[in-house]
Amino acid sequence: MSKFDYDIGVLGGGAGGLTVTAGSAQLGAKTILIEKSERLGGDCLHFGCVPSKTLIKSAHVYHMMRNAARYGLPTVELKPVDFSDIAKRIQTVINTIQEHDSKERFCSLGAQVEFGDAEFTDEHTVKIGGKEFTAKSWVISTGSAPSIPPIEGLDKTPFLTNKNIFSLDKLPKSMIVLGAGPIATEMSQAFARLGTKVMVVQRSGQILSKEDRDMADMVMEVLKGEGVEFYLNSATKMVRDLGSEREVIIEQGGKEKSLRAEAILVALGRQGNHGSLGLDAIGVENDRKGIKVDARLRSLKHKHIYAAGDATGEHLFTHAAGYEGGIVVSNAIFHLPRKANYTLLPWCTYTDPELASIGMNEKRAKEAGIEYKVYTEDFRGNDRSLAEEEHVGRIKLLLDAHEKPIGVQILGPQAGELLSEWVAALSGKVKPLTLVGAIHPYPTLGEINKKVLSNMISEKVYSDKIKKGLKFFFHLKGRASCQ
Ligand SMILES: Cc1cc2nc3c(=O)[nH]c(=O)nc-3n(C[C@H](O)[C@H](O)[C@H](O)COP(=O)(O)OP(=O)(O)OC[C@H]3O[C@@H](n4cnc5c(N)ncnc54)[C@H](O)[C@@H]3O)c2cc1C
Repeated sequence: MSKFDYDIGVLGGGAGGLTVTAGSAQLGAKTILIEKSERLGGDCLHFGCVPSKTLIKSAHVYHMMRNAARYGLPTVELKPVDFSDIAKRIQTVINTIQEHDSKERFCSLGAQVEFGDAEFTDEHTVKIGGKEFTAKSWVISTGSAPSIPPIEGLDKTPFLTNKNIFSLDKLPKSMIVLGAGPIATEMSQAFARLGTKVMVVQRSGQILSKEDRDMADMVMEVLKGEGVEFYLNSATKMVRDLGSEREVIIEQGGKEKSLRAEAILVALGRQGNHGSLGLDAIGVENDRKGIKVDARLRSLKHKHIYAAGDATGEHLFTHAAGYEGGIVVSNAIFHLPRKANYTLLPWCTYTDPELASIGMNEKRAKEAGIEYKVYTEDFRGNDRSLAEEEHVGRIKLLLDAHEKPIGVQILGPQAGELLSEWVAALSGKVKPLTLVGAIHPYPTLGEINKKVLSNMISEKVYSDKIKKGLKFFFHLKGRASCQ
């Protein structure tokens, strides 16, 4: 019999923590979940995926209404956006999903839920307020927060982050976005579509820097076409509050430039929320980004303390947090030595068009020294895409030296949905010939998945060698003359 109060204790009620809690409790482990805020659901539900995708949809509809003529429809006289209505809609969606992430639901699954700011007092004990809880295993799933760099003047200037941008009562007339990662890029397009003049400042020469340059540049061109201004290779030197406006001084090519806007959005990466957990005192290795873990997600010194989700500082996605939660349950409850494997971790940036990715892209393959071949197909060759007035986009398929698919990137309408076929195919090691031989419904965007494979296969099937063989065996007559 264990001397601890609980079999497992979970810190943080977001995607990672809730997965561990639900899994452990349903398996009969005595489980306690401790959440700092008043509600479960974490960043994804309250300040991340859910509000951002809800906002993106509102911006998309407004954009479609403004561009009605493109679809052969009468143009409409549009009223300006009242952001408080969008913020209300965002809250309604959050409230609906919140029911699924309620304390009552987790209690009904068999877990105890406590609210408070958790801190370790020793490697098996956590306190909140005056109460102490001991558990055989602990899981740190306390997520991440926006990283605020020490830019001169930023501490004296009001700015937006993902924590407050979804509850604005009014649409900013103009906004300077610091950073050009997925959050910055999604928000830039959404706000530009709603009517904000958006300026993006990016230190490097490319937006979405994890992605291949050609794909990221296509996204940037679409955003430029919608009025977003980009300042690449630009360092932010200083920020000033001018009262009704804010000023950002940037340095680009050795020259200083002043940008002014009503609002500033800081989207310059993330840092872990683990600072107040007392980890240093109990010897759990960590840095600003997150907690150091081994492949089984165990902290380096204490193998009974795990970390999952953004708390590790590595794969900052809800589905990664959920996957890692499952790995923790396997290790801590089933005692199976299961390791996390991110080779086929997919993700998607929800710009319009979306940019979705799984496995290797060219950048990652080069870094890993992997020999690869690329096949592409553009969306302008897809009938459904044209019917939907979607002209921008490309699928890129990477094959290794043995012609095995090792990665797919899709920039296009509903790319995140289209990627699912590749998630199944790559995870299930489906052969290209099987996938290309499968009948896809017409006309669908998904046909592009089959088309990129047939580009690769037709290179072989329609080769001179095959033609010669067929001519020899079956006496084919060769090309007809076209009159
Ligand atoms: C604007 C934005 C858009 C995003 N969009 C997407 C998307 O489209 N798709 C996607 O996959 N990911 C997206 N993400 C990322 C996603 O939100 C995170 O990867 C995900 O929330 C991580 O889950 P988590 O459980 O690790 O952390 P969280 O969901 O942040 O949960 C951590 C929980 O721990 C609690 N906590 C913190 N400190 C303590 C403490 N001391 N004691 C107790 N509890 C504590 C917090 O209150 C929180 O509830 C987005 C993020 C942002 C910011």
